[in-house]
Amino acid sequence: MTAEEILKQGTYTCVACRGDTVLTATERGVRPLTNWLREGADLRGFAAADKVVGKAAAFLYVLLGIESLYAGVISRCALQVLEQEKISVRYDTLVPNIINRRGDGICPFEAAVLETEDPKEAKAIVFEKIRRMDMDNFMELAIEEARRGIRAGEGGPFGCVIVKDGKVIGRGHNQVVRRKDPTCHGEVMAIRDACANLDSFDLSGCELYTTGEPCPMCMGAILWANIPKVFYGCDIKDTETIGFRDQKFYEVMADPANSEVITYRQTGRQQCLELYEEYRHSDKTEY
Ligand SMILES: [Zn+2]
Repeated sequence: MTAEEILKQGTYTCVACRGDTVLTATERGVRPLTNWLREGADLRGFAAADKVVGKAAAFLYVLLGIESLYAGVISRCALQVLEQEKISVRYDTLVPNIINRRGDGICPFEAAVLETEDPKEAKAIVFEKIRRMDMDNFMELAIEEARRGIRAGEGGPFGCVIVKDGKVIGRGHNQVVRRKDPTCHGEVMAIRDACANLDSFDLSGCELYTTGEPCPMCMGAILWANIPKVFYGCDIKDTETIGFRDQKFYEVMADPANSEVITYRQTGRQQCLELYEEYRHSDKTEY
């Protein structure tokens, strides 16, 4: 079957074929193409078929190296890009521009690349836009998590999701009140959930989205978990305005020995050093 025939069966949004090799996707918009580019797919000699092709998709098809394209709907500027690159194009409907999903304007991806004629520049614009959309979506999930907690009276307005390879692998919200446990902050709950799901204490390569900038405890948990990327909504000053003491805690952390909030002294060092020695010679798991 040709790519066009497979597409017209209706299961996929986008198909690419060469000989017996068939790539299919079910996501809408430019996402299948950005995924293929990210995976380093080389579609030279491929015939592609796509339900909707705007200018952004056209540039990505050029970069993927396809030979021919069938489009259900194609915009005039997309057609121009493909024809310039000598890609043979067939289509059912030619439109001035691709319309957005709400139907009240130009598709945001097409709009973002209207001014460019350079495929690589277009790719950078599209990837950045997808990145921002993903970040907004993950923060939305963190906010939903937080709402669940405040509506149930479980604690403060703090929700968190942890993401790996574009997928949510852990989530949690503040449950200090419900569990009567001051360590149950959103970030800590999400870290516990992610570690349980991955069966690991190491969250390297993950991203953390949280509705409020992490307090010192959560910052410590994030560092212990090796999470390299943190995105927060409100900052510590915002959090102070609704009655939380994070700012004070950061001040204490800077110089605990001279803080008026806490007594902080050294004692029993010798015995504890013996304990450390015992650990050093034990059969241990490093973390
Ligand atoms: Zn915290």
